[in-house]
Amino acid sequence: MARLLASPKTIDMRFQRRAFVKSRLGRKIFFIFLLIGAVPLLAVSFLSRELSEYVLTKATGQLLRDSTKSDALSIVDRLRSAESLLRILAEARLDGSPNAEAERRASVVFKHVEYSLPPATHLGASIKVRKSTLPDAAPDAVINIWETKWGGAVEGTLSTSYLWEDLDSALYSICVGGTEFAKPYCRGQARPKSNTIESERIVYFRPYLQGEPWVILAVAAPDIADYLPIQIGALFAYVAALALFLSLLASAAFLRRATTPLDALMTATRAVKEGDFTYTVPLVGMTDEFRDLAHSFNAMSVNIGRDVLFLKVLSAIDKAILDRQPLATIIDMSMQHLSTHPELIGTRLLMTNHANGTTRVHTVEDVEQVTTSEVHEGASPSSQVVADRSWRWIAKTPTCSAWLESPASASFASKTAAELESCRARIAVAIHSDQYEQQLISRAARDSLTKLLNRLGLVERLDALISSGAFDQSGIAVAYVDIDGFKEVNDAYGHDIGDRLLKMVAERMDKSLESSALALARLGGDEFVFLVAGDAQGLYRKQISAVLRDLQRVYAVGNLHIQIGGSIGVALYPEDGSGHDDLLKNADMAMYSAKSSGRNQVMFFEASLNSASAERIELRRDLSGALERNELFLVYQPRLDCRKMSYRSAEALLRWRHPKRGLIPPDYFIPLAEESGLIIEIGSWVLKEAIAQLASWAHDDQFPITRISVNLSPIQLMQESFLTTVEEILKCTPVQPSAIELEVTEGALIKDIDSAVHKLKRLQGLGFAIALDDFGVGYSAMRYLSVLPFDTLKIDKSFVDGFGIHKSAFAIASAIVALGKALEKNVVAEGVETPEQASALLGLGVDELQGYLYSRPQTPADLDAFLLAAADPSE
Ligand code: C2E
Ligand code: CA
Ligand code: CA
Repeated sequence: MARLLASPKTIDMRFQRRAFVKSRLGRKIFFIFLLIGAVPLLAVSFLSRELSEYVLTKATGQLLRDSTKSDALSIVDRLRSAESLLRILAEARLDGSPNAEAERRASVVFKHVEYSLPPATHLGASIKVRKSTLPDAAPDAVINIWETKWGGAVEGTLSTSYLWEDLDSALYSICVGGTEFAKPYCRGQARPKSNTIESERIVYFRPYLQGEPWVILAVAAPDIADYLPIQIGALFAYVAALALFLSLLASAAFLRRATTPLDALMTATRAVKEGDFTYTVPLVGMTDEFRDLAHSFNAMSVNIGRDVLFLKVLSAIDKAILDRQPLATIIDMSMQHLSTHPELIGTRLLMTNHANGTTRVHTVEDVEQVTTSEVHEGASPSSQVVADRSWRWIAKTPTCSAWLESPASASFASKTAAELESCRARIAVAIHSDQYEQQLISRAARDSLTKLLNRLGLVERLDALISSGAFDQSGIAVAYVDIDGFKEVNDAYGHDIGDRLLKMVAERMDKSLESSALALARLGGDEFVFLVAGDAQGLYRKQISAVLRDLQRVYAVGNLHIQIGGSIGVALYPEDGSGHDDLLKNADMAMYSAKSSGRNQVMFFEASLNSASAERIELRRDLSGALERNELFLVYQPRLDCRKMSYRSAEALLRWRHPKRGLIPPDYFIPLAEESGLIIEIGSWVLKEAIAQLASWAHDDQFPITRISVNLSPIQLMQESFLTTVEEILKCTPVQPSAIELEVTEGALIKDIDSAVHKLKRLQGLGFAIALDDFGVGYSAMRYLSVLPFDTLKIDKSFVDGFGIHKSAFAIASAIVALGKALEKNVVAEGVETPEQASALLGLGVDELQGYLYSRPQTPADLDAFLLAAADPSE
């Protein structure tokens, strides 16, 4: 920041001058100036024009009146002197002595003079106008003199030039007319048509002359232009243009002076708006308030720039705190910022770690330079403070103390002090949140119920053990424990008892392991893991078995006595995995296999488990959609009726054609279906499908098979709603339950013998036949035979296989047949592969035979063909 502020950019004033008036305000003021100049100018010009026109009209009126008057006088004068001259001429004629002087004058005044005209009756003189024949010619005025003394007369026609001379005017038109005039005789300017002013005067000749009066009319249209050397409009235009030009120049000059600083301020403001605080307004060429304003602006911009920068630094620090950045990073960011204040050189942040007594010191050495060092003897604020320095706490926690030490704060600018305080507060927050996080981490590693480690804690512990390298030789046994029967306890007695039981299990395991456990954790639910050190003699195996034994002892929870079991899977470090992921996964897998092969045992991980379990997990997933995708189907294996030596019934056996793996044997996928509960859905489909098949066979009277056997899974039988499901299926088919035999394995039944007996009785009640499948293996507790309701005994294949190999096999088989006979049950032998086995079984009196010797399980179509061939005596 210091670097940025050191080289401020200034605005190029030359560029600013190029525009005429750049600022909008300037342009506005300029046009107002223009208006203020132009309006009075126009008003004055208008007024003065009106005024001069008024004066001109008045003056012209007066002029016309004067002119008509003087013209009238001059005409009368001329006529009178002409009459006098005519009299003199007449008298001279009468006297007979012509007057040469008068004759000469008469030649000027008159065009011609005639004497001795016929005598007139008049006395005296008269005037009349003789109408001219030429349209524009001046009319002739004629004066007549009569004299009674000599009885003759003189008639003088006046010379046009004499009579009308001086009548011309450049300013107006003057016309002389009267009743004797054909039309007025006009002189002077052409008669105007508009804006006229007129003056009329009548000229009477009597009593001097006989004759009609004349009328003198003067007409003018006054125009100022006639009085001025140039056009008045042009004059105004020139003056206005000049005035406006001058005002434009003056105002532009003024405005430019006023608005250039304004523009500079605007540009700088815009720069600030865009976040650039490095612009400064140049003070050169600025005067008056603008200078002060620019000065304040520059100061403000620097201030805001610093504040904004500081806010950015603060938000970066906040983000770092929220992002859980290391404490050192946050301290570094804060100290780096403080180092931009020259006043803070020498400021130190000290942080003592109480665990090891070391103190870390961050010092502002110079502007923008912070160093970090480590002091080993314990430090405390009091032992470090020098007289003229001040210090304040940042944090004081059980694990660390931190404080900030700076030059005495009295000398700081308030801003510096505020920033120092903000940074101090941020570091305090960072330290506390760091400590809080540490606490959370340690708390997060514990299970809240049993206070044992949880998965996180276990993983951390295991990682630490592995990375310490201490167990690379002896190894570590990771034992994964799953409580058997916990779910039942929880379901039966509620979560409260369940939780108490879990706590007791935790305590018991802890006690059992004594101090030999490297870790004991609960992963959730009823799953526990403990770690013990390996040893060459395998003592750890005994330890693990002891834990299992202790687990199985009865627990007294309240007034309940609960017994549970456990399955333990063990994976060894480093053989079965180098990291916690592999070790836990493999131990889990081993536990899973311990559980599925009978529970209450310890199973050690083997590589073969790995691929087998992965495959099982995948197949279980695939199986869930197999029914929908029509991948399941039934095959049928016929049973030979020994008395009639014909096939009367068949066993329905399930098949799964996997899209990738092909046919998968039911021995493999049915346990998967049972584990996942899918067997419920699949089992009812099998029953429905087998019944439908039987119904379709029933259409053909010739078809020998009239009964069908369907295998039931113990899971199906245990299900509450199983009977309702069966009833629903029966509703939709014409097949009678008596044609259906349900095969159940005795092992599955004795788990909950009472409910099994109850369910089987109800199934029998509905009409179904019940067969005890795989009879002879497993429990085969004779005492159950008396209570179990059944109709058929199926001697297990293993006995048939043993014929001729183990003596006992035949002995057991014959005992089973005898038992069946005694109980009056139908006895079936399955897995018959050889004619010897068949004849031995026939010899024992078995009712039905089933096995590859007769037929493998077949699809209905194949079975059809097979039965047809079997019925054909020619084969
Ligand atoms: P299971 O009920 O004992 O069925 C008889 C098994 O023995 C059948 O095997 C059959 O193919 C086989 N078998 C019959 N005769 C001979 C023989 O002469 N030699 C030999 N080696 N084997 C013979 P599969 O079909 O593989 O069925 C295996 C088991 O899967 C069945 O044993 C049954 O427990 C179960 N299963 C099959 N289908 C179903 C079903 O729809 N539902 C249920 N819950 N279980 C079924
Ligand atoms: Ca069966
Ligand atoms: Ca069987």
